[in-house]
Amino acid sequence: MKLTFIGAAHEVTGSCTLVQACGKSLLVDCGMEQGADIYENCEIPVSPAAIDAICLTHAHIDHSGMLPAMVAKGFRGPIYCTEATARLCGIMLQDSAHIQEQEAEWRNRKALRSGGEPYTPPYTVADAMETTKLFRTTGYGRTLELFPGVSARFADAGHLLGSASILLTLTEGEQTRTVLFSGDLGNLARPLIRDPQKPERADYVVVESTYGDRVHGERPDYVTQLTRILRETFSAGGNLVIPSFAIGRTQELLYLFRVIKEQKLLPGFEHFAVYVDSPLAVEATKIYSDTSLYDYYDDETLELLRKGIDPITFPDLRLSVTSDDSRAINFNTEPKVILSASGMCEAGRIRHHLKHNLWRENNTVLFVGYQSEGTLGRKLIDGEKTVKLFGETIQVKAHIESLAGISGHADRDMLVEWLGALPEAPKRVFINHGEDVVCDSFAQTVTNKLGYLTAAPFSGDEFDLIAGEWAARGRVIRLTKESEGRRRANAAMDRLTVAYQRLKTAIDMSRGLTNKELAKFADQINDLCDKYIRKSDGK
Ligand SMILES: [Zn+2]
Repeated sequence: MKLTFIGAAHEVTGSCTLVQACGKSLLVDCGMEQGADIYENCEIPVSPAAIDAICLTHAHIDHSGMLPAMVAKGFRGPIYCTEATARLCGIMLQDSAHIQEQEAEWRNRKALRSGGEPYTPPYTVADAMETTKLFRTTGYGRTLELFPGVSARFADAGHLLGSASILLTLTEGEQTRTVLFSGDLGNLARPLIRDPQKPERADYVVVESTYGDRVHGERPDYVTQLTRILRETFSAGGNLVIPSFAIGRTQELLYLFRVIKEQKLLPGFEHFAVYVDSPLAVEATKIYSDTSLYDYYDDETLELLRKGIDPITFPDLRLSVTSDDSRAINFNTEPKVILSASGMCEAGRIRHHLKHNLWRENNTVLFVGYQSEGTLGRKLIDGEKTVKLFGETIQVKAHIESLAGISGHADRDMLVEWLGALPEAPKRVFINHGEDVVCDSFAQTVTNKLGYLTAAPFSGDEFDLIAGEWAARGRVIRLTKESEGRRRANAAMDRLTVAYQRLKTAIDMSRGLTNKELAKFADQINDLCDKYIRKSDGK
């Protein structure tokens, strides 16, 4: 009976853990890696066709994105998840598969011209469709017997509609062990969904640590913040453009717009239109409005529904699906809200809206989520004066704003509180789904605050659940020397990038110094640059 950590080990994305018990192999999550990769994940040591089942915590692509790749390689077992997760994941995987196919088509056209190798996408739309047929749904609090000796119970993780923590009970002969997978745990008091449920007793806990080193601070008042931004933008005759993640964040914003309209917080602009311009977001919004999923909402939302109020719909909401609908938005000169994906502005229709709106100073672009290093969203937040869109240089004159404190994840203190609510101390807590150092620092935090035994596993680490120890030390598949070296190089480069950000801040803050001081600062930077440019030339 053992756990093997595959993905999101000392990393944030690519969640995947292998559980082996009672002669069966099952995965908890099967996510896609996104963004910068620090560690190489080990291969799942069981072929996809020999995996007996998969338990899915929630629909986000970093937890579900490789399911169709498993199916493409022969997995045919059941995928257990909540009804809401199955519905959201269905559209998410279709969308992801579509992107993979487009990417493959583009790469292959290029390869054909250059004589390069043909590229096969990790999966296709057909694989995604096959995957959705394997979903077996359950509700919170029910015990499912997956196999003789293996059962699962899902509890609300408060992170996304249908998101779950999963408690596995594994019995081999006289021995029973329980393992609780937190999944992504939600921030408190979010619109629409409940707060995370308190955890049940478990021998072992695998907990996420995305914000394991940060606290969100005082609870921000999103309605007040949004109302101010809307008032300022509309008073100037501008549009509010919001790059937003299609699933979850978009629907939370619709909830807030409904509140603003219902409470008449914008006198003079009561009838402002809100366009949702992303086919995936429109599909997700329909799922959020489906009456059969109301079990997943919080009490406040259920109260609205009892009164006959749809929590995310209002009279001036326009859902556009076709590209003609999308183009028409830009011919309409009325001040309005445009919600479009992708959330980090790297792809999708948001790029068209940015092209049409960034150059006008009466418009506002509002960010409502984390923007990774290197993305267009990050550049705009960092104050870039011009950006390239569709080969055109676009001036950034619009106001750039961020909705403070908005996050879908629990912070450090909430994670500690959730772990502290376990009825008794677990034998061990495994920390995953956090950036490299965050996993280690959060492991320390948990030990210091709660006295639990913790570990932050790497990909390939195996833990024997019966013996309560790492499976034969020599067999723990640590990183190879080569990838370890690469990791160190990446970490050093990360430090340098942080130093560069500090330099940029120092330059920004030096406005107002004397000319002599500015010249001295410039000389020092130039000396440093000369030294390192010479060094790399000499290589
Ligand atoms: Zn998530």
